[in-house]
Amino acid sequence: MKYILLTAIAALSFGLLSCHTKSSTPHMNDTSTQRPAYALVIHGGAGTIRRENMPPDKEAEYMAALNQALDIGEQLLQNGAPATDVVEAVVVFLEDTPLFNAGKGSVFTNDGRNELDASFMNGATREAGAVAGVTVVKNPIRLARAIMDKSPHVMLAGRGAELFAIEQGLDTVPPDYFYTQERWESLQRAKERENKSSGANFPPTDSKFGTVGCVALDKNGHLAAGTSTGGMTNKRHGRIGDAPIIGAGCYADDASCGVSATGHGEYFIRYTVAKDIAALVEYKGLSLAEAADLVIHQKLKAAGGEGGVIAIDKHGRIAMPFNSDGMYRGYAKPGERAVAIYRK
Ligand code: ASP
Repeated sequence: MKYILLTAIAALSFGLLSCHTKSSTPHMNDTSTQRPAYALVIHGGAGTIRRENMPPDKEAEYMAALNQALDIGEQLLQNGAPATDVVEAVVVFLEDTPLFNAGKGSVFTNDGRNELDASFMNGATREAGAVAGVTVVKNPIRLARAIMDKSPHVMLAGRGAELFAIEQGLDTVPPDYFYTQERWESLQRAKERENKSSGANFPPTDSKFGTVGCVALDKNGHLAAGTSTGGMTNKRHGRIGDAPIIGAGCYADDASCGVSATGHGEYFIRYTVAKDIAALVEYKGLSLAEAADLVIHQKLKAAGGEGGVIAIDKHGRIAMPFNSDGMYRGYAKPGERAVAIYRK
């Protein structure tokens, strides 16, 4: 009960904070130099997520899922697990939760399939793994990590990636495992809009991005980041977004920070969002909040790119900026936790 109350208070104060400032950091003055024993941050996608359109029971489901993801990660971190294991476990949970557009809740392509992308990066070694366009791998984040740990490559796509997953003994599922009625209806709406607006460069989507991501800092000061997605509703068959692009949708380096992104992937690729934030921290000495705000609220926003990031720097400071209406998000540090959805 006490725990629920604390979470509610934290969530409320975080919501109010978001309302009063464009800053995305949980604390306006998160300049602490003493690294916490651990830090954890998650997202479940950004986009047109408005309080007035959200049924209360759905909102409660999202909040519960975000808290459960934080519970999983925090418990591992408290037991001394490495950041890599934490990121994998948390993202697997989010992939298995149909609420989010990753794994089980993935959106549909224009031709009615589910093609999944994911990436993983170990900040201690700067090793990375990524997978694009898989259709039968239950947890693409596990495959991204296996590519990082057990292959000489960084990225595998399509059938080759699936064969590697089978070789590695990862769970595979029939493609219809990824079917959910809600996502199917969302595709039908997107197609109707597309038919009405012929000539658009990119297929109109629901503008609800539901990619998932996690960044963790462990007790040894190591960072890891992971991102997983079904992509964007009504994407063309074979389209690959930013989620599996190292430096765009995911990045981690112990020298600076770990970042996971969500939003309109084409922009995040062209603006190399995750690496841009890390570079501003490492080369320019910007604080994480300054770097993340600059990229999300200025560069990306000016270009028309919608979305956000979650990030942790090597000091354990957290940033969660987004320029869309909402972003499912949450963070935890020893004695501190918040989950939130909307801007205000
Ligand atoms: N960034 C993802 C993509 O473009 C979508 C999302 O964040 O939900 O594929």
